[in-house]
Order: sequence, then C-alpha cells, then structure tokens
Amino acid sequence: MLFRQLFDSDSWTYTYILADEATSEAVIIDSVFEQHDRDLSYVRELGLNVVAALDTHCHADHVTGAWLMKQATHCQIGVAAAVGAECTDLALKHGDTITFGGETLHVRATPGHTNGCVTFVTADQTRAFTGDALLIRGAGRTDFQEGNAADLYRSITTQIFSLPDTCQLYPAHDYAGRTSSTVAEEKAFNPRVGGQARELDFVGYMDNLGLPHPRKLAVALPANMRCGAPEDGIYPTGPTWAPVVRNYAGLFEVDPTWVASHRDAVTLVDVRQASELKDALGDLDGALHIPLDQLRDRLDELPSDKPVVTMCHAGKRSGMATVILRKAGYGDVANLSGGLLRWRMLGLPD
Ligand code: FE
Repeated sequence: MLFRQLFDSDSWTYTYILADEATSEAVIIDSVFEQHDRDLSYVRELGLNVVAALDTHCHADHVTGAWLMKQATHCQIGVAAAVGAECTDLALKHGDTITFGGETLHVRATPGHTNGCVTFVTADQTRAFTGDALLIRGAGRTDFQEGNAADLYRSITTQIFSLPDTCQLYPAHDYAGRTSSTVAEEKAFNPRVGGQARELDFVGYMDNLGLPHPRKLAVALPANMRCGAPEDGIYPTGPTWAPVVRNYAGLFEVDPTWVASHRDAVTLVDVRQASELKDALGDLDGALHIPLDQLRDRLDELPSDKPVVTMCHAGKRSGMATVILRKAGYGDVANLSGGLLRWRMLGLPD
C-alpha cells in the first residue's frame, strides 16, 4: 500500500494519503483546506483515483479539505454519522468498511474527544488513524464538542489498545515533531491513559487541562459541518490567464501546447546560456533571452503588460526562474513544462 503522511504547519495537522498500488484507488484522511492544492497535485502526479475524502471527526482547529477534493476528483466524503454534517456521502458508523482497490479500512467508533470521532484501521491491523482520540503521548481534549473524558477512556482502552501491540498509530496532530507511535508504546508511556491508568485517573487529568479554545474554532466548526465547502459554494480557482498547474514541488507550470497556441498572449523568457541557443533544440521565435544567472539583475527588461512563461532545455532552470520572478513580485508567471525538449517532442512550431 502506498502511504504518505503530510503536514500542515499552521494547524499542526497530519493528512494521510493511502492508495492501493495495483488499482491506484486512494483515500485521503484529515485533509486541510489550505493544503488542497498540494494534496491534489500529489494525487495527479501519481495518477491516483481518490475514492473517498475521510475525516476522523469534525475538527475545531482547521477546515477540512474534503469538499474541495470532492469537487476536484468526484470522490465521496466520509465522516461519522454522529457528526451530522450536511454534505456527507458516507455517514460512517462503527463496523463500516471503506474499500479502495484491494485495500480496506475498518471504522471503529472512538467518541470522547467529540461524540463523532472514529478511528480508521487497515485490514491487516498494522496501521490505525486515531484522529484526536489518541495522540502520541496525549489524547484529544474533551471539554467541548460533546466531549466526554470517560467516553474517551473507554474508546482508547477498548477500541485502540485492543489492536495488536505492534500496530502503528497515526494521529491527526502532533505538536512536538513526533510522527507515529505504536499501541505498545502508548500503553506503556502515554501519561494520561498508559501504564494501567484507571478511568478516574484519566478523567482527572483531562478535566484539568485548562486549555484555551482553538483560535479557528468559530470558523472551523460551521465550515466543517459543510464538509469544508466555502460559504458561497464556489470552488476557488487558480490563475485565470492560463491553465497553470502548481505541481507537488510547488512550482507553477503550463503545458507547451497551450503556450504554442497563445504565443502573443505571453512573454517567453528563455533562461538558457547564449551558447545553447545554437544547439540541436534551436530557439523559439520572439523569446527574450536572459540567462538564469543574470535574471535577478535584468528584471527591468521584462515587459510588464503580459504574463511570463519561462523556458530552458528541460524545464529545470526555468523552474528556478519562476521562483526568482515570483519573489520579485511577478504574479503571472509559469514554467514551460518539460522545456524545449518536450516542445520538440510534441512537434510544436518555432
Ligand atoms: Fe479535534
């Protein structure tokens, strides 16, 4: 199974992408609204077919990216029925399964942090996605969203600690750089619920956390009841001047076939060395030549009335050129995907 753990540094959230490598069917767990472009670019680069965007619960500290992923991939949205969210396709209950290709996730109800928390467990019980029910050496707060410390104690001890000791645990958050744990480790070392702690011990700990409310609470809760749909219900679009795609590396790229048919609408900036212009790949008509190592000093040569498409031999140095230009304040900039190599391969005209 393909497994990726992604991180949002603003909300300290872990997002997980799991895929069946034979069929490329995938699920995404606990996505973050602001990271949708990153997640989608990864899915597209790997040719994954997302069948479900799942949330372990209704988050109070960030808005889910589930609705955005549904708009982009037509996947289903899965969240616990107990959440009562409006736009859920899979209203999950204890014992449900989610299938992607030959892989299956089993749903275990683990309420207590909220009344609608679930843990997703792989069929072979080697991995469990615990949301905020069980964190690494911690547990999700129980002081709002119908939280209940006694319920959480029972959820952890009966639904998570009953998994094999070697089962890897992946939470929705960590605030100290830790990425995963195991059932055995948390049983032994979790300061709230490990080491034979009784319900009374756990409840006493949780009832005295004294945490401030999350700063995004007022925005996140209503948005997550809409599965992350913006209030206007409109999917946010990227740049409008061209079908620009931001790749998983974070670079903005545009396809050569689009550029070939919109030559007059853009300034082509060729950042190769002068000596390369006479090599086998040749040159493109009307391109402005500014070698990459001179670009920072020659910005005033760029016309300001048109978007800029950067190009080079294979599209690597011109990718760096887009970074330089964006830093210098040019918004409408994209890299010619694959460079002149791909341009020639596609048989596009000079
Ligand atoms: Fe939470």
